[in-house]
Amino acid sequence: MLKGKTAVVTGSTSGIGLGIAEALAKKGANIVLNGFGDKAEIERLRARLTDSCKVNVAYDGADMTKPDSIEAMMKSTIGRFGAVDILVNNAGIQHVAPVEEFPVDKWNAIIALNLSAAFHTTRLALPAMKKKGWGRIVNIASAHALVASPFKAAYVSAKHGLAGLTKTVALEAAEHGITVNAICPGYVWTPLVEKQIPDTAKARGMTEEQVKRDVLLAAQPTKKFVAVEEVAELAVFLASDAAASITGALLSIDGGWTAQ
Ligand code: NAD
Repeated sequence: MLKGKTAVVTGSTSGIGLGIAEALAKKGANIVLNGFGDKAEIERLRARLTDSCKVNVAYDGADMTKPDSIEAMMKSTIGRFGAVDILVNNAGIQHVAPVEEFPVDKWNAIIALNLSAAFHTTRLALPAMKKKGWGRIVNIASAHALVASPFKAAYVSAKHGLAGLTKTVALEAAEHGITVNAICPGYVWTPLVEKQIPDTAKARGMTEEQVKRDVLLAAQPTKKFVAVEEVAELAVFLASDAAASITGALLSIDGGWTAQ
């Protein structure tokens, strides 16, 4: 379905990004992996995807908070593959603190990674997409692109900003065969979330099941985590020709969170 296309998935050494990279590779897209992690493990992942999906898989360790590194990654990908046909802006971090105590360096890092990185990749990907008359930009936002929670000022601001960027670029690219959408997940079962549970249980004197249900999933009516595979399948659909008329959309996949 996506044979001959090339996808850059930022933050794809873990969690949602890794799931999306795997799902796109299974559909035949060449992949540029990005993100931090153990070099040998990343190389094993690269080799596994190459072998199992019979596609080209490259890795670029660009720090997505750094515009120069982003530019180098985008230029080398376009040089090697001709274009970034599918751009998935996924890399993201979180920090939780009251706004008056929010560390300035954390604010700057979250805005740089969760918002500005998508601006840079998008502006650098668009010229080659326009030349081809085809492109897909999928921004991994959050339920926090639509609603707020206390103590997450930087994350909520960045994700709301990403929603605005999605809509703006969708309008600018609409006549070029390029769609731009945001996926807005609720809590997704990733290593990041899983690792928080034992400590939260200890701190609150709760069982791990209570933490999942009454803390993490308190706002998620299904009381179930979204699976990485569900987010990945939505990204694959948005990359397909069947989704050609879906653009500028903020698509919730949050177990009913933002219906409340
Ligand atoms: P994760 O921590 O498992 O993965 C984050 C990825 O980003 C990793 O590959 C990491 O190496 C990479 N990364 C971190 N800093 C980077 C940097 N400076 N440059 C390049 N790569 C960097 O997280 P996840 O849960 O898979 O989240 C992925 C995206 O989904 C984020 O944008 C997050 O905000 C969003 N999201 C997650 C959830 C959830 O519940 N897990 C819910 C809604 C939205």
